[in-house]
Amino acid sequence: RAKLQQRAGHLYFSRSMGIDISERVNMMHALREAFEERQLYVVYQPQIDMLTRTAVGAEALLRWCNEGVMISPARFIPIAEYSGLIIELGEWVLRQACLETVRLKRRGFDHFMISINVSQVQFRHPQFLSMLKRTLSDTEASPHCIELEITESMAMEDPDALTALLNQITATGVSIAIDDFGTGFSSMSHLQKLNVDRLKIDRAFVTEITESARGSSIAEAIIQLGRNLDLDVIAEGVENERQATILSELGCAYGQGYLYAMPLTSDELDEWLQQHAQPAPH
Ligand code: C2E
Ligand code: MG
Ligand code: MG
Ligand code: MG
Repeated sequence: RAKLQQRAGHLYFSRSMGIDISERVNMMHALREAFEERQLYVVYQPQIDMLTRTAVGAEALLRWCNEGVMISPARFIPIAEYSGLIIELGEWVLRQACLETVRLKRRGFDHFMISINVSQVQFRHPQFLSMLKRTLSDTEASPHCIELEITESMAMEDPDALTALLNQITATGVSIAIDDFGTGFSSMSHLQKLNVDRLKIDRAFVTEITESARGSSIAEAIIQLGRNLDLDVIAEGVENERQATILSELGCAYGQGYLYAMPLTSDELDEWLQQHAQPAPH
């Protein structure tokens, strides 16, 4: 059976991605080695309050520089999921992000929130919740400074188990966002039952805003949905002022994208924050 699955996987990969099984196995080994040798690092892309234009948080994004060549997480995350390495890797990213919030707090950014992408493989792991709690207590991070991003497709699986897990996560004080929102088919009634805090408009719909007369209709619908369900909305992939203006006019509270800042290393984030955020007064 495993063999069959591998074969099916092989066919799938070679047809859809032009990547064959030996290449995938090589990448799997290289990724593990990179992780063990600390060649992976986390960058942080600022998230902006569109009205005040100040930074309120950042999304943690994993980076792998392999002998001078950057490999996209869109390529290596699926490999990490397939090999199971995502469990360790995901825990490590969460830990880095927690430590970063603690560091920022010491510098006066008390309410700066860091969002972490959670893979469905991690999320389904029976120890996920205990790992989350352990990481929070080990790092002494405030749960209010941590947000987990799950995708819309993850938010649609097994409703009862999911509802329970989201309630338990929320009880720790950690927030939940639904990433790449608009690409799936979640219904309003389903969403209403879930303990989530924020919807993240997928970049595709942000791009569309300026492309046609009705280009903003999906973004608009998501913002309206957020308003109806009392959820915050953040737009991802905001690249220009026109998009920002329209989103803002539609009532989108938060934005993230190259218009505001690229993903930054921890040191670059420090420097960027000097210019773009006011530390909260004590
Ligand atoms: P995502 O979570 O939807 O992250 C947003 C992606 O859009 C990031 O790509 C970011 O660099 C990119 N981006 C941000 N602003 C703009 C913009 O204005 N224009 C354009 N064209 N792109 C923009 P990145 O870093 O390559 O990550 C790709 C995906 O890989 C992420 O999509 C996420 O699904 C996954 N990923 C990244 N880091 C992690 C991680 O630590 N764990 C897990 N499980 N997945 C991760
Ligand atoms: Mg994300
Ligand atoms: Mg996203
Ligand atoms: Mg996306």
